[in-house]
Amino acid sequence: QDSKVSFNSQINAVAICRTPYKQKFGIPRQPGLVNATGYIEFEPPFNHIDAVRGIEQYSHIWLLFCFHENLAQGWKTTVRPPRLGGNEKLGVFATRSTFRPNGIGQSVVKLHGIVNRKGKICLAISGMDLLDGTPIIDIKPYIPFSDAIVDAKGGIAQEAPVLIPVSYSPLAQKQIAQYAAKEQYHGLNELIEGVLSQDPRPAYKKAKDDPKLYQVALYDLDIFWRIDANTIEVLELKPTN
Ligand code: SAM
Repeated sequence: QDSKVSFNSQINAVAICRTPYKQKFGIPRQPGLVNATGYIEFEPPFNHIDAVRGIEQYSHIWLLFCFHENLAQGWKTTVRPPRLGGNEKLGVFATRSTFRPNGIGQSVVKLHGIVNRKGKICLAISGMDLLDGTPIIDIKPYIPFSDAIVDAKGGIAQEAPVLIPVSYSPLAQKQIAQYAAKEQYHGLNELIEGVLSQDPRPAYKKAKDDPKLYQVALYDLDIFWRIDANTIEVLELKPTN
């Protein structure tokens, strides 16, 4: 008897997520950790106001999406969660690994409303942990009475990650103030601080001295930083090439 369950279903994106996160490195590892703003941009035939009628009654929504940048690498039975320092293995279904059969991710994000952007129906959101351009395969309202389980056990992720302090060089301070004055970079300061205070480095780098110069890409800017004595220092911002 064939134990494989197969079904003929083609899943297409209903929307594309627009976020300030232009590369995987630096994106928070779960939603709600960094107050970044973004948009869900509907694709035809879902680009219709009727498809979102009533959604504004909810403060949060579930996004089901595809880890499209990792699909080509397939999946493994076990993974090494960053939380465990990269040393211990857990089963793929016991983790939020991005390398999974079917490559499906899910995140609860804050909903700010329905907006029209360049003729497209969009949902304004914040707190997402998604790469810019991520295909959204479904959207559902978050229902607190059922979805919020206050006494749930969180396994290896019981608590939010510990934040580390972020400081700024005089140059970075001046540059951030200049960019943040422009509408398109609204909240840049908070975004940089939120992203870096999570310490995005891989687990194996955290145990020892680390002189490396790091870069994260937010909007169309490359943010250069390094870590010293457990404080991250933002050195400089440069427009992405
Ligand atoms: N909350 C979701 C979940 O549990 O399914 C995602 C958790 S996953 C650990 C979050 C990470 O996915 C981010 O830090 C980023 O590196 C990665 N990521 C986000 N969007 C992606 C995409 N479109 N393709 C591949 N990786 C992505």
